[in-house]
Amino acid sequence: MELWYTEEHTPEVRFSIKVNRQLVSKKSAFQQIDVFESKEFGRFLTLDGYMMVTEKDEFIYHEMITHVPMAVNPQIKRVLVIGAGDGGTIRELTKYDTIEHIDMVEIDQEVVEISKQYLPHTAHKLDDERVHIYYEDGLKFVRRFENEYDLIIVDSTDPFGPGEDLFTREFYGNCYNALNADGILINQHESPFYAQDADAMVNAHAQLKATFPVSQVYQFHLPTYPSGHWLFGFASKRFDALKDIQVDTWKQLKLPTKYYNTELHCGAFALPNYVKELLDNE
Ligand code: SAM
Repeated sequence: MELWYTEEHTPEVRFSIKVNRQLVSKKSAFQQIDVFESKEFGRFLTLDGYMMVTEKDEFIYHEMITHVPMAVNPQIKRVLVIGAGDGGTIRELTKYDTIEHIDMVEIDQEVVEISKQYLPHTAHKLDDERVHIYYEDGLKFVRRFENEYDLIIVDSTDPFGPGEDLFTREFYGNCYNALNADGILINQHESPFYAQDADAMVNAHAQLKATFPVSQVYQFHLPTYPSGHWLFGFASKRFDALKDIQVDTWKQLKLPTKYYNTELHCGAFALPNYVKELLDNE
């Protein structure tokens, strides 16, 4: 008998991965958590039936969410990460010796525990001494701070379930206050391709544009997310992701990356016409 993981990308489109076995099936206080093992994508984590990370393609997501802001301001020292329970974003951040302090706020401790046990590939740097983990709602956590962080990364689930509040103007406004004058915010910006994801993208962009003087969008290709075409938002108080990139400084760090490089960084902000139209017309 064959076992397949199937996710509905739209009511008309399904995406399936052949599975060897299921390693975890658990309902936490916040969501359904599953881990599967497959030949093509290795182990993968889903929350409420939506793909979060696979061993095979997670490097694309985690490198793009981290190295873009770090190349614009390699002087970043204090970072807040919201969500990110699988640990991949933290793993990339800890490659920078110059980062002094990382707060991570994850609402669901079970995601972290399960990732440590079943996804060491992404979770193995969660114990770095610079990392301080808080199990709280990111929306409430960020309210407490003013002028505290150089970088906030919102590595959240989609805008329904526990992640819903992380796409609101109130949340982005609180992030603005928690950032210092050099502050950069990166957020999970959904996808332009299918209508439901595109609505979420347009909404996220509208809220960010209303909050930050600089609000840019960049793309990457992730085989296991709906349509394979996904976006991150780059918002900041003063940095422009293209004009201010410190190419030489970043290259001198000689960090090992499999997807990110500074040429790709610049290309990622060149968006297709239909995406520009969606963003411009919001
Ligand atoms: N790369 C993933 C994606 O976009 O599919 C997201 C990775 S990570 C697993 C997302 C994490 O955000 C989850 O572990 C979830 O528990 C956490 N999360 C959702 N809502 C949150 C909230 N309000 N505060 C803090 N963490 C939250």
